[in-house]
Amino acid sequence: MKELKTLLVRYFRGDETNRLDHFVRGYEGEQDFLQIVKQFIPNQGLFIKDFIFETPGFVQIDGVLIMPDQIHLYEVKNYDADCSLIDGKIYYNDRHINYNPLQQIDRACDSFKNILIQENIRIPVIPHLVLIHPYGTFKSDNSSELSILLRHELRRHFQGLQDHCNQPNYDPHSIYQVLRKYQIDDWHNHFKINPFNVEDLRRGIYCHQCGSFQMTKLYKSFQCQDCSAKITKHEALKYIIAECCTLYDRETISPLDVYTLCNKQLDKHWISNRMSELLKRVYYGHYAKVSESEYLEDMLRLYHKLKKK
Ligand SMILES: [Zn+2]
Repeated sequence: MKELKTLLVRYFRGDETNRLDHFVRGYEGEQDFLQIVKQFIPNQGLFIKDFIFETPGFVQIDGVLIMPDQIHLYEVKNYDADCSLIDGKIYYNDRHINYNPLQQIDRACDSFKNILIQENIRIPVIPHLVLIHPYGTFKSDNSSELSILLRHELRRHFQGLQDHCNQPNYDPHSIYQVLRKYQIDDWHNHFKINPFNVEDLRRGIYCHQCGSFQMTKLYKSFQCQDCSAKITKHEALKYIIAECCTLYDRETISPLDVYTLCNKQLDKHWISNRMSELLKRVYYGHYAKVSESEYLEDMLRLYHKLKKK
């Protein structure tokens, strides 16, 4: 999610990267899956989203459902395509996918089982590949034993787990306590993997509705010359703070970062004063970053608008 937000801000500020579309699709697929899980999760089940662990390699699993008698692992793919399974390989609109998602979930499953073996927990683990896109299709030659679930099959899948829960050997919460020992934060440093220069990005204040940088400065607000939307200076500042937090690979941000990114459209002292009210000070002139999810939904809305143009 951290990387998605950075890519969005870079895109709004004129730096195109082809990875953004891929990231947006992946994120939206996972969100879609989460909504369905929330609705149909079996009573006894405990769901963990985005489980990342170290064994000793890094492994990421989109969803883990712990039931008293089984554990289910989910790898979610949001392929807007006609997919097929032929000879154990997944094809995407008749094209072979280099990064085989079946292998991906198989490997993740093996690593996950290693944790259980190490902890002496004897419970079956069942991996699933979820093709979540509502218009995606799937044809199979049954050449893989791995469970592949389409979006419309998820409801029945979860309801089936509810009905067939036998030999409840474990308390899902106590299994989760064990798993938590292995759980880590996102290990990617996307700034290193995908470096960019903040200096290259377009500076200024842009319209949150249409993305235009043609903003007229009024007394306490800015108005877009293209779509007439208004934004208060205070809101503009909070948004730019969120942008700065995603653009810098360090723990803190400073009023100078904000002043530079808004292209001096906001007063330097006013920025300093507001930031000392809004944020937690780490040391003189440096403030703790805000949450990663702040403005993410707004940014995705603007992204879709710009893509349609
Ligand atoms: Zn506008």
